[in-house]
Amino acid sequence: MTDKTIAAISTPAGEGGIGVIRISGRTAITIADRVFKSISGKKLCELDGYTALFGHIYSDDELVDECVATVFLSPKSYTGEDVCELSCHGGGLVLSSVLRAVLQEGASLAEAGEFTKRAFLNGKMDLAEAESVMGLISAKSREELRLQLSAKSGRVSKQISEIEGFLLELSANFAAFSDYPDEDLPELSEDNFKRLLSLAKNGLDALLSTYDSGKVLREGIKTAIVGKPNVGKSTLMNMLSGENRSIVTDIAGTTRDIVENTVNLGGITLLLADTAGIRQTDDKVETVGVELAKERLHTAQLILAVFDTSLPLDKDDEEILSLLSADNTVILLNKSDVGQATSVDQFKSFKTVMVSAKTGDGIGELEKAVKEISGTANLDPSAAVLLNERQLELAKKAHSAVAEAEQLLTSGFTIDAVGVAVDDALSHLYTLDGKRVTNEVADEVFRRFCVGK
Ligand code: GDP
Repeated sequence: MTDKTIAAISTPAGEGGIGVIRISGRTAITIADRVFKSISGKKLCELDGYTALFGHIYSDDELVDECVATVFLSPKSYTGEDVCELSCHGGGLVLSSVLRAVLQEGASLAEAGEFTKRAFLNGKMDLAEAESVMGLISAKSREELRLQLSAKSGRVSKQISEIEGFLLELSANFAAFSDYPDEDLPELSEDNFKRLLSLAKNGLDALLSTYDSGKVLREGIKTAIVGKPNVGKSTLMNMLSGENRSIVTDIAGTTRDIVENTVNLGGITLLLADTAGIRQTDDKVETVGVELAKERLHTAQLILAVFDTSLPLDKDDEEILSLLSADNTVILLNKSDVGQATSVDQFKSFKTVMVSAKTGDGIGELEKAVKEISGTANLDPSAAVLLNERQLELAKKAHSAVAEAEQLLTSGFTIDAVGVAVDDALSHLYTLDGKRVTNEVADEVFRRFCVGK
């Protein structure tokens, strides 16, 4: 690949106990030796991999910082190349001075994602695993972290390799069939071709089926809390977010604007919006709030519709109910600690949960209902889950190529024609995991990374 040795600050901007400069490439250790003097007098180039020296960093003979320099020797490093990591004090000025010294000695500034790109190009990880590195860094919930870790450890790649295996076996069988069409071998029978195509299709179906719930785990769910005034929407919002952002009073119509907060409910991120109470009103300002709340009913992915269970349903409740759809709504019968004038049976097709936003009763049930309605209840985050639109599009293309191959085979087309569709499916999968990928695709993937990763 490239002869260039690259360097960058790998820790985030801002002040911290430690900041790391990572250097990778053929001359990484030589360059580090030029700026680093160990206390013991030993040189970094004398070290085995996975060992470290304590010493000082100098720039033009001027002391810059104390530092622990760790050496990783190719191929046993993150990038697969020789790598030296300089762990300095984590201050902006310190780190930029050390980086400048390293660049002066011949390293080039790394581009966004270049360390991981090198790891990919050196066969340390495939493209799907590399993509999960960024996901790991930006994970915001426990479940998302599990999802990304599973991809990083190769679950998606393994599943794709298995599907590629079925298609490769088919390709080989097709070649043998073309060469020896009269051989009566079981692996060259149409039944066996169909069996392999169906295994490939089932594998792709399984991958595609988890995408939407995986997306929910990665991106969170846009959620609106709706209900008439005074049913406890703001109390619920504050309880879920552990903050007093929404104003709670007995006076109806207090929340007129939309108050937003990101909360974690049982490992799922909810992008919550507390809306104004929906009711008939002549107050101009309140009317604007009511309209905004109704708008949210159309744009939110999940609705938490709150009703006061201590009182019978009234006209305002009935109107709200008529605006809801059971597909994306959880009904919350709030104030269960006060009394029960409504029952779960009144909301037949809806998922309905008794809660008390005041005491926290029923929150476990709410969590379960949200997981069920968002499709995440049955998702195993440690399973193979596609992680982004790029992966989804390629898996879909591979799926339709396999479906086409099946169609051609059953309609009596030649094996050559079926083989073209199978090769087409394989090439999409190879682009997905990066076994065969153009520079443009790889650049596009790594452009989204941060510098230093
Ligand atoms: P909103 O207008 O729907 O946002 O309602 P609020 O959250 O402002 O609550 C209205 C009143 O109901 C306040 O006095 C709350 O303290 C009270 N409240 C809310 N939830 C509960 C609950 O679960 N139990 C009881 N007893 N009171 C509640």
